[in-house]
Amino acid sequence: MIQKVHIVEVGPRDGLQSISEEVSTVNKVKYIDMLTNAICPEIEVASFVSPKWVPQMADAKEVSSLITRKDQIIYSALVPNVKGLENAIKCGYHSVAVLTAASESFSLKNTNSSIEESIKRIEEMIPYCKENKIRIRGYISTCWVCPYEGNIGIEAVIKAIQDLIDLGVDEISLGDTIGKATPEGVEYLLEIILDSWPPELFALHMHDTYNMAAENIVVGLGMGLRIIDSSAGGVGGCPYAPGAAGNVSTETVARICMEQGFETGIDVEKLKLAGNYIQSITQS
Ligand SMILES: [Zn+2]
Repeated sequence: MIQKVHIVEVGPRDGLQSISEEVSTVNKVKYIDMLTNAICPEIEVASFVSPKWVPQMADAKEVSSLITRKDQIIYSALVPNVKGLENAIKCGYHSVAVLTAASESFSLKNTNSSIEESIKRIEEMIPYCKENKIRIRGYISTCWVCPYEGNIGIEAVIKAIQDLIDLGVDEISLGDTIGKATPEGVEYLLEIILDSWPPELFALHMHDTYNMAAENIVVGLGMGLRIIDSSAGGVGGCPYAPGAAGNVSTETVARICMEQGFETGIDVEKLKLAGNYIQSITQS
């Protein structure tokens, strides 16, 4: 039986959030509708964060109301706090993503809060999620290397995982935020994690800054992980290495999955159209 890999398309949120060019609401909606047409099984549409922090996401509400949704696709939004969560629920989301980190310095610089504060904020959101039957995906940034602290100790990642699991988070996405993870590093961390938890709980969120994403993902798939984050057209840069690639492209992940004998359910031709489209409007 052919096994499935669930690709989480993060271009509209993670990708667009990290580029400086402003993308219009109409163009975002067109991009997301193209991803829907390509049957990307899960699409992270927007972030309900204060526009003061992330101007690119100021139109999250409008984008959410204008996209055409398909039943078989999970649409999700990143929420930083209860207020963001309430807005996401109002906009019809049944799945949200929350953020913590394995590096204290990264957490402070990226979200202006300590790791402990980020966990506390997630804790405050849990009752609302349970009440409204909202699925929660927890991102852990900098699981391997931090731009400020360098190599991250495994204990910090394990602690973040344990905290998220204790809170009742449904899925955990392990982030290689600056693309410096190596296949050995991925294998080492996953071996320890999978000693305690099942692979179904985890996603890999790899950045391709140093062209290592593909190899790292192959390692993850080989160890039983079946959820991979990526962005169509590889949209999104890396704020810590100007000009370098950010998120691994969904086209690459879909290709790897095919080569490794997995099914993704994505229409690759239509995916390419979405990738080309977003590249054409962000790389002018
Ligand atoms: Zn990313």
